[in-house]
Amino acid sequence: MNNKVIAIDGPAGAGKSTIARKLAKLLNYTYIDSGAMYRALTLKVLLQDADVQDQDAVVRIAAETDIDFHHNSIFLDGRNVDQEIREEGINRNVSCIAAVPEVRRIMVELQRKASKGKNVVMDGRDVGTVIFPNASFKFFITASVEERALRRYAETLEKNSQADLEDIKLQIEQRDNVDSTRVDSPLRMAEDATCIDTTGKTVEQVLEEVIKSMNLMGGEY
Ligand code: C5P
Repeated sequence: MNNKVIAIDGPAGAGKSTIARKLAKLLNYTYIDSGAMYRALTLKVLLQDADVQDQDAVVRIAAETDIDFHHNSIFLDGRNVDQEIREEGINRNVSCIAAVPEVRRIMVELQRKASKGKNVVMDGRDVGTVIFPNASFKFFITASVEERALRRYAETLEKNSQADLEDIKLQIEQRDNVDSTRVDSPLRMAEDATCIDTTGKTVEQVLEEVIKSMNLMGGEY
């Protein structure tokens, strides 16, 4: 049996990772968060005090960095960085680093390597268009920017005592803008993807929609 890939792409804060994680658990697939890899590299660049705009420095750091997953956790040069990669500084800088073509080449190689021999659900921006153009199923998960900002706002408040809704909305818009206008593998829906707008829907409703659509397509999973 060939390994199966379920690709889930979409803009920032659309709930891709929640859906991808639950779907993977349900189907007994491995979940791979491709964005976590760009975040881990961004963390390393910031820890080294390198300039995120300096593409040569960023590529040099990428080439000597080990990024890997073990049991759903992300390791940067052998260190678990699950928490650190979710911090503010990373959100603000990750898209700039992810726009560098040589960085993307290295990451795509790592993402394919991490999926080898496994059935995977992978979420990101270019999973269905570039990493796995032949994925068994492709979804594009989106929601209105207002709702995405509200969800992020609620998540941030759970962790911190303060959060600024307008600032979060602006950051999401800026990240989407950089991600969808970059020259190399911009964020866009694959032609053969199913688009699901999650605005106003619960996680359970979206998951149900995903599974229904997979059944309708008739492919095996
Ligand atoms: O998915 P997440 O929001 O954690 O991704 C962080 C950033 O990593 C995105 O805004 C994007 O710049 C980059 N990314 C990417 N390609 C992917 C996944 C993430 O360029 N496949």
